[in-house]
Amino acid sequence: MPPLNCLYEKIPGAKNFTMHELLRSARAERLGIPNVPDLNSCARLIHITQEIAQPARDALGKIVVSSGFRSPLLNMATPGASLTSAHQFGAALDLQPKKVSAPELALWIVTYCEVWDQVIYERRPGGGEWVHVSLYPPGSPAPNRMQIRRHWPKDGDDYPHINRAQLAAWACARS
Ligand SMILES: [Zn+2]
Repeated sequence: MPPLNCLYEKIPGAKNFTMHELLRSARAERLGIPNVPDLNSCARLIHITQEIAQPARDALGKIVVSSGFRSPLLNMATPGASLTSAHQFGAALDLQPKKVSAPELALWIVTYCEVWDQVIYERRPGGGEWVHVSLYPPGSPAPNRMQIRRHWPKDGDDYPHINRAQLAAWACARS
């Protein structure tokens, strides 16, 4: 068992992120739900952070991971979370950019990252917004789908597909 301090060390190849940041969950703490990934989930978390979160951080400035890994139990206790959520496999991150808007971050990912599974521009009543991004490492059973979607309050349970031009228009309107 490695010392717990290692959770606070920077992820190799992702100098602005720690494993602690990808695992912490206020909801899990509040409800006493363990939120411990297995080794495969750990590897996926490191992969998506190296391939997407850190490059975006380098280009766009500070980005906070508002949700990373969610154990299946924690995922079930998360309002609005899909039962098939990639967060359960360490393959998804919710990213809140601090220097640019969420649509700008989403646009950056789909423009500059070679591969992703889903990029979802999420907005909630009261102003919260973030980008959900998922990515499976090479050799995973399911191919990365390269989808761009949005999930806004009025969408209900739907995740309509959108395109780069729509993201660009929202990004422009906000910058
Ligand atoms: Zn998410």
